[in-house]
Amino acid sequence: MVKITLNKSTLELTEGNITQQETDAIVNAANTSLLGGGGVDGAIHRAGGPKILEECRKLGGCPTGAARITTGGNLKTRYVIHTVGPVYHDGKHREAELLASAYKNSLNLTSRYKLKSVAFPSISTGAYGYPMHDAAAIALKTVIDYLKTHTDIELVRFVLFDQKAYQTYEKALQELIK
Ligand code: ADP
Repeated sequence: MVKITLNKSTLELTEGNITQQETDAIVNAANTSLLGGGGVDGAIHRAGGPKILEECRKLGGCPTGAARITTGGNLKTRYVIHTVGPVYHDGKHREAELLASAYKNSLNLTSRYKLKSVAFPSISTGAYGYPMHDAAAIALKTVIDYLKTHTDIELVRFVLFDQKAYQTYEKALQELIK
């Protein structure tokens, strides 16, 4: 596990499963329909039960780069923040900007709901094909910039699914803070 302090907030990298987190909110790497999918999305709905999908249905989708919030259902978290990262094509279709905005809008919702802790998966790096190191750099920079200018969120945790993802985020973080 890696931990750094920014103002009074903690930024953490850990290897694990997003569905097991006890943070106030966890973030789902959803798709624009918000009606469920594979990867993180499938795991969250399986573990969280039907309440989450029921609320998602009422939201009527979510554009790429935006974020919505629902109950945490049966999960240990109070809320699930559903955000939609970009599908990666070639890096010339506003992917970087849209990925940053998925993180930024999720953090804005965390603040608006007065939540103290939030856990993120690595958005867009599974089915959506975003190169992991580039995605890590954008994710971490967006969170670091946010924590430098907002002091309300006490903990932001990145939950990386395997050792390779964890090591890639660790390397990207070292490059950003050196
Ligand atoms: P996207 O469609 O945004 O690419 P995916 O869910 O396909 O989202 O994958 C995003 C990342 O989350 C991938 O790097 C994948 O390995 C990882 N992942 C998959 N399941 C979990 C889980 N249960 N907890 C944390 N990370 C996960």
